[in-house]
Amino acid sequence: MINVSTDQDGIATIEWNMPGRAQNVLNEASIDAFAAAIRQVMTDPAVKGVLVASGKSDFHAGADLGMVLGQSDAEHMHAIVQKWHKLLRQMETGGKPIAAAMSGATLGGGFALALACHYRVAADRRNTSFGFPEVKFGLLPDGSGTQRVLRLAGIEAAAPLLTKGKLIRAAEAQRLGLIDAVVPAGEERAAARGWLLGEGQKQARQPWDQPGFQIRGLNGAKAPGPAATPPRSVPERVVRCLEQGAHTGLDEALGIEARNFADVAVTSEAKNKIRTLFFAMKAANRLAARPEGIPTQTYKRIGILGAGMMGSGIAYATAMAGIEAVLIDRDQAAVDRGKHHSRRQFAKAVEKGTMTAEAMEKVLSRIIPTTDYAALAGCELAIEAVFEDRAVKAEVTRKAEAVLPPDAVMASNTSTLPITGLAEASQRPANFIGLHFFSPAERMPLVEVIRGEQTSDATLARALDFIGALGKTPVVVHDGRGFYTSRVLRAYLAEAAALVEEGVDVAAIEKAALNAGMPIGPLALIDDVSLELMVKFAQQDKSDLGDAYQESAVDRVATLMVEKLGRLGRKVKKGFYDYAGGHEKHPWPGLAEVFPPKKTLPSLEAATERLILIQSVETARCIEEGVVLHPQDADVGAVLGWGYPSALGGPIGCIHTMGIEGFVAACDRLAKDNGARFAPPNLLRNMAAKGRSFYSD
Ligand code: NAD
Repeated sequence: MINVSTDQDGIATIEWNMPGRAQNVLNEASIDAFAAAIRQVMTDPAVKGVLVASGKSDFHAGADLGMVLGQSDAEHMHAIVQKWHKLLRQMETGGKPIAAAMSGATLGGGFALALACHYRVAADRRNTSFGFPEVKFGLLPDGSGTQRVLRLAGIEAAAPLLTKGKLIRAAEAQRLGLIDAVVPAGEERAAARGWLLGEGQKQARQPWDQPGFQIRGLNGAKAPGPAATPPRSVPERVVRCLEQGAHTGLDEALGIEARNFADVAVTSEAKNKIRTLFFAMKAANRLAARPEGIPTQTYKRIGILGAGMMGSGIAYATAMAGIEAVLIDRDQAAVDRGKHHSRRQFAKAVEKGTMTAEAMEKVLSRIIPTTDYAALAGCELAIEAVFEDRAVKAEVTRKAEAVLPPDAVMASNTSTLPITGLAEASQRPANFIGLHFFSPAERMPLVEVIRGEQTSDATLARALDFIGALGKTPVVVHDGRGFYTSRVLRAYLAEAAALVEEGVDVAAIEKAALNAGMPIGPLALIDDVSLELMVKFAQQDKSDLGDAYQESAVDRVATLMVEKLGRLGRKVKKGFYDYAGGHEKHPWPGLAEVFPPKKTLPSLEAATERLILIQSVETARCIEEGVVLHPQDADVGAVLGWGYPSALGGPIGCIHTMGIEGFVAACDRLAKDNGARFAPPNLLRNMAAKGRSFYSD
């Protein structure tokens, strides 16, 4: 795990190389192994200096998030952190010079390890990066990061680096005083060795262990008094650690960090974020759902049918990934508009200086606008993004398949129409699949991949290869009305509409959702999507389902708003809000007359509970029905698809956090008060009865 070797000049190399892992991480075993290595070199009289290095292409990834996720005892976590802090202090004060030679990613506690060395040299490699990304996972920077960065870079530079989780390149790290030298890749160990044998022999003390040391930027500021309120967020906690730590010696400051790290690490917010944003997202990006044994499909040229909002966005993402996109629509003007959409996006990048004009032309040349289906010859894949209309979709599918190679994948970007039904228009239903991109497709990372009844494993695997090539995140679901994302989102919007029907005012409904961390109020979202589209969905459901159709509150409210009141949504400046132009909007005052308040209205907390739990119940139904196969997919899909708050993990993370039993009890209560839409599915009752859970943490 950690190898120690000493050369004839008395320089010991401690090389981190944890077996069975792509990266080195901090956990109880590696901390113990490193402690033993440090003890060995410190007590060996033949050792004059110590080089800390990595046997992997990255230096160190910091805390083992699997260990953090599995740890629910704050005191045990505190003890681990304290042990690490003590070890780093032993390195700093042991009297022997220690240097770090870094290449690749140097993150979190791994960066802190480097900062505890007396000299730090980095390889000038493209992927050499430094930082503390922990805040993104609801954690404090770990392993002493807050206090050593504060002392090396000063308070002003430390705060943004530590509260935003930003990664910086070697040159920037050097500018901030966090590393001492940047050398050509491959020379970092030699450079560190040179320092150990030269300058290092004279100087083996950290600046903060020398008399008169001052933290930059403090400018005589007084120590803050005890805070009146607890910190509201992890970044705020980091800032308090910095402010408090700046006014004490390093040892006491490390104590402040250790306490805060341990307390935060065991919170459900941290666990939810680590589980969903780190582990589940990593698995999705690794294409964990890809069936095995199917050769990887590389893509050179694909077809996109329909050059509207979605088609042109998909063309943009395709061209950016180095793949040619034949963009087809009904007439040349439409395809030219589609390509122009991409030109406008790229032009913004050129203006900002993040892309050269030459690169823009090169990428744009990959988008081939045409009305001629013959251009689809040789395409490995075609994605239709024409109107949400079965007949139009069937027509373009037939036309495309007449030209596409027989083994090409045919995909639909439909957001609601079941894939198995659309595949009826296909000559090769085994090659037919749903690839549901989100708007704007050029930016949104999620793609919901929908397997129809006849979709083959090979088609799924090859479609996932395309999503991987785009650098987007896929979640694979099975067919059903609205699949997963549109179905749960609609259940959520329907709950907001139910609150409207009860006469709760717009501001209160929006606040109830925003308080839970939803990124935008549900009524503003309905206005953006358009009430008219909501009516279309309702009509489609009615005609598809016949007697089985169950009207929801959003169907009723949208139909009334559109048909009786002419309030179609933001596009006509009239919906739940009146739109004044620009970003200005005001809740429509007439709504209270249409939906007068009932005698008793739900409190803000009760409205929040309904808006959040309805998403979890509907998601649990998707799992019960086999639409969603893995809870992780549901959580990733919700966070990336509609901005579900990652602090809750996702709709399933939320159930897990509450405990299934507690969730079922809450749903039984809500079902009694508000209707059967809250009735918990049997899956959950069975899981609760058997003491099972969705996740192991
Ligand atoms: P859009 O109206 O902007 O674009 C549709 C395009 O299809 C238009 O350019 C139209 O000219 C073209 N078209 C229509 N009939 C055609 C035909 N016979 N041959 C060739 N082209 C034809 O619509 P959009 O918002 O881009 O949606 C397209 C599809 O993507 C729909 O199925 C929709 O449900 C789905 N979708 C939309 C969103 C969204 O937020 N807008 C999100 C996900 C999925």
